This record gives sequence, structure tokens and C-alpha cells, in this order.
Amino acid sequence: MSLVVYNTITRKKEEFKSIKEGYVGMYVCGPTVYGYPHLGHAKSYVSFDVIYRYLRYLGYKVKYVQNITDVGHLVGDAESGEDKIEKVAKIESIDPQEIAYKYETIYFDAMRELNVLPPSISCRATGHIIEIIDMIKTLIDKDFAYVTSEGNVYYRVNKFKDYGALSNRTLDSVLSGERIEVATDKEHPSDFALWKKAENGHIMKWNSPWSVGYPGWHIECSVMSKKYLGNTFDIHGGGMDNIFPHHECEIAQSTIANDAPFVKYFIHNNLVTVNGQKMGKSLGNFITLPDLFKEYNGMIIRFYILLNHYRKPTDFTKEGLTEAKKTYDRISETITNMRFLISNSELYTLELNPDIELLKENFLKAMDDDFNTSLGISYLLEAIKLINKELTSDKKISRLLAINELIKMYEEILGLTFTSNTNNKEQNLLEIINEIRNDLRANKNYEEADKIREKLNNLGITVNDRG
Ligand SMILES: [Zn+2]
Repeated sequence: MSLVVYNTITRKKEEFKSIKEGYVGMYVCGPTVYGYPHLGHAKSYVSFDVIYRYLRYLGYKVKYVQNITDVGHLVGDAESGEDKIEKVAKIESIDPQEIAYKYETIYFDAMRELNVLPPSISCRATGHIIEIIDMIKTLIDKDFAYVTSEGNVYYRVNKFKDYGALSNRTLDSVLSGERIEVATDKEHPSDFALWKKAENGHIMKWNSPWSVGYPGWHIECSVMSKKYLGNTFDIHGGGMDNIFPHHECEIAQSTIANDAPFVKYFIHNNLVTVNGQKMGKSLGNFITLPDLFKEYNGMIIRFYILLNHYRKPTDFTKEGLTEAKKTYDRISETITNMRFLISNSELYTLELNPDIELLKENFLKAMDDDFNTSLGISYLLEAIKLINKELTSDKKISRLLAINELIKMYEEILGLTFTSNTNNKEQNLLEIINEIRNDLRANKNYEEADKIREKLNNLGITVNDRG
């Protein structure tokens, strides 16, 4: 069995074969940094993190590039209007660059909390203005882009025959189905901006041959993927909401500018709904990750997301998350107990048995089938049953050691860790000390109790007295 992935380009599962043997180039559209990361970000970046981890597990050397959009993404994903980052900058009365950096930091903190590995290269649109101007020049030279008297540059969509192929739309349906704000200087309503002249009051702007202005949103991904991964690369990822217009426009730009096919596999994750409804700031059901982390640790949110296949939507409910937490805690407890037993035992050799081998094989089969984490986790639960059986009967360490190796593989690929951070023994010891202190305090022996507290404080352990 070999890896198959669902390719949005062909709308079917295909055997995965990298362009260069042993290497994978992967580009995933990163966040626009103007607000708190939310559940939608978690779904997307956890999904691609598992893809990244699994490809590495299979032995590929993966170069994973993710951009940070810090300019050019306009409110409402529109073709004209306010820049998302500048809008927030005005509200918070600080520079747009401060906004971008602030939310980028919060984004990476949230990703760390979710145990998402950092990409190999994280690149910013504002750091690539020279390359952006270069690519726009190429598109103008090839007559696929035009400069208007107002100093804007647009892509001539009509001329690119494959426009709409990824999202399965024709130009007519694009026009009738979408509410496109038509700038008066466009040749055709569906042409999209490569460069915009800065209106009065626009802060982020650069010199260019056409006007003092700023790049459109789509061009940055074509430019940065080319710079770090070359003209044609293996995997381009993003949320399903990026298919149109964003990825459609990327394909149009890159294919023409590079004279080469853009991407071999387009992979898209499905979206998050909240209680069956689309999540949106205006709907009042918007769930940010920093808010969620106040109640749940990132590992539980990650586990909850992976319970669904990445191409299925995640319908977020409080009950669902609570249920996931219960399961996660149960798994953790069993694994912690197993590891406690192993660490306190003499050395044994591994004892594999057919049950364990089969669980490994089935898990890898599930991952090979378009990264089916949902099915994969069902085998993890089978393994937990096996451990529980062992813990309540034979306690055969050599067999537990073999299961532990299996669990470690699950943890590596899924990016989940099931052992609580505190060592069990330490935790028990602290509880005993605490009990003694409580007794001392109850007998009004505050001097002794304080002495113990001070000594614990010196070890960096904070003790809070109740009442
Ligand atoms: Zn992109």
C-alpha cells in the first residue's frame, strides 16, 4: 500500500509521487495577521501539520513553506476598499506593522499550544515587494496583465483559458454567482488586482513602475512559492474557502509567469461550523483560540479536530469538545499508568504479537488513505483496550513495551502526547507533603507549615494556602 491523496485538481484520490524522489515541496497559505487566530485556523494548520508529519515519517525530506499575509488582503476579500490590517491599526491606534507583528506572535503561540510544528520557512508578503514587482512585470510583458490610467495593474482573466478549472466554474458563473465590486478601470469585471495605487491615507505603500501602491492579495503566494519551492512543486494546501478566488488566481499568475505547471497536488481542508452554523464575527459565534485555551489545553483541541477527517467539516459543539476531552483523558490515564509501570521495571526485551503488528499496519493504512486520522484514532482506541487488558491481568512488561512503541508512533504522526507533564511519583509526593502541611495548619502549627512552604518555594514550587 502506498500513500494516496485527494487532489482538488482532478477531484479524485491519486497515488502520491513526489516530483523529486525523496523530497517534497509543500506550500500552505498562512494567516492574514489582523486578529486572533480562531478554530478555522486550528483545523487548517493541524490538518497540514499531520500531513507534514506523516510525509516525514515516510522518509521524505519536506520543505514546508507558509506565508504570513501582512499587506494587501482587503476587507471582505474584495478587490478594492480597506486593507484588513490597516483597518485594525486605525482602531488600535498603532502602526500596521505593529498589528501584523502582534497577531503573528499570537498566531505562532497558538500553534505551539496545538503542538503544530513550525514550517521550514515562514515568509512575509512585505519582505517580497521586489519579487512581486518583478512577477507583475513579467505578466505585463506577456500581455496577461495591463496597467490602467489610474495606476492599477490587473490580471486579464479572459486570456487564461483554465481560469475556473480548480473551482469548477466558468467565467460566466463566476460573474453571476459572486458579488464582484467592479472597479471602473477594469477591462473585464472578473479581472483581479496585481497592484493597486494607494488611495489618500493608505499607510503601507511602495514605489513601483506604475504607481505608489501595494500588491494585491493573490500575487504574494505565487511569488513566495516560486522563490522557495521553484516553478513547479508538489503540494499546495489551504482551506476550502481559498479555492476560489485565491488559488484560482494563483494558478493563473504562476502558470503564465513561470511557463510551467504550478502544482502537482492541491489539498484543501474542510471548514469549521459552530453548532451547525457558519462561524463568523458578525454571527456572534466566533471562537478564538486564546479564548478556548482558557478552558481546554491545546492537545484536547488538536485531538478533537483529528477525530474528523480533514476533508470533512468539523461542527464545533461544547458537548463534542467535552466528550473529546473525556476520551483524551481516559487515553492519557491508561498510557501514563503503562509508562509508570514500564519505568519502574527491570529491563525487558520487546515482545511483539500479531495484535500489535496488526494495529500498526492498520493505522498506517488509514494514514496512507488520504491521511485518515479519524480511522487512525479508532486503532489508537483499540491499542488502549489492549493496554487495559494487560494492566488488569498479566502486566507483561515485555508486551507493554511493544505497545508503548506503537503508541509512540501514533503520537509522532498525530502530533499528540498522552503522558501528563508531571511525573506521577512527583505529583503523589507533593500531595503527601500538602496533606502534612494542612494537618500542621489545622493544629495551628503555622511555623512548621511555613517552613515547608518556604523550602518548596526555593525549589520553584508555589504553594497556595486555602482560607
Ligand atoms: Zn495563498
